[in-house]
Amino acid sequence: MTAAGRVLIVEDDEAVRDAVERGLALNGFTVGSVPDAEQALASVAKRRPDLLVVDVGLPGMSGVDLCTRLRQLGIDVPVLILSALDQVGDRVAGLEAGADDYLVKPFDLQELTLRLQALLRRSVAAEAAASVALTCGPLWIDPDRRLASLDGVALELSRREFDLLSAFATNPGIVLSRLRLLELVWGYDFDSETNVVDVFVGYLRRKLEADGHPRMIHTVRGVGFVLRAP
Ligand code: CA
Repeated sequence: MTAAGRVLIVEDDEAVRDAVERGLALNGFTVGSVPDAEQALASVAKRRPDLLVVDVGLPGMSGVDLCTRLRQLGIDVPVLILSALDQVGDRVAGLEAGADDYLVKPFDLQELTLRLQALLRRSVAAEAAASVALTCGPLWIDPDRRLASLDGVALELSRREFDLLSAFATNPGIVLSRLRLLELVWGYDFDSETNVVDVFVGYLRRKLEADGHPRMIHTVRGVGFVLRAP
């Protein structure tokens, strides 16, 4: 078995926490756990894990807020959110906050293990991938340094916004379906009910079209979206 990585579990329910901790340890992960978000932040500051498993319903700061806080601090560790609520709204909130994956309780331990292994592979691959700057008309993107600009003016983008814009810029002029974008940016087969792609396309458009810049991300009705130079 290859080194599976260090996981920090943030869960206030002791029974769930112990079960997950034991299960992941059996699958080769090095596992630590804390019962709340404050202790999670302290633990991450001390030693950064490779992965975080975060329960949404925590005492004090919620799991979604913890995720927001980590991203604000520039901590890019992949986060899988656990929630008892099977609601598209919670899923979107978690993903907007920068979570990378989402699992609804009760979940199968093997499913969690597979998801975590996939997250770890992706983050290792992303670090290893050498890339060059991309351009499309006035748009310039450096995926390695995670910089983007429009007409020479730096764009302030969240992590997901950047990933989505990179997906478009890697495929200029090519119509990308919502499912394809979910795979490229969020990384797995989502339930097709989610409107997270539309939400983030909206965010990107607002930033790209500020100061009267012409539209670059176009909707192709019934198909998806396409990036075109104006
Ligand atoms: Ca809980």
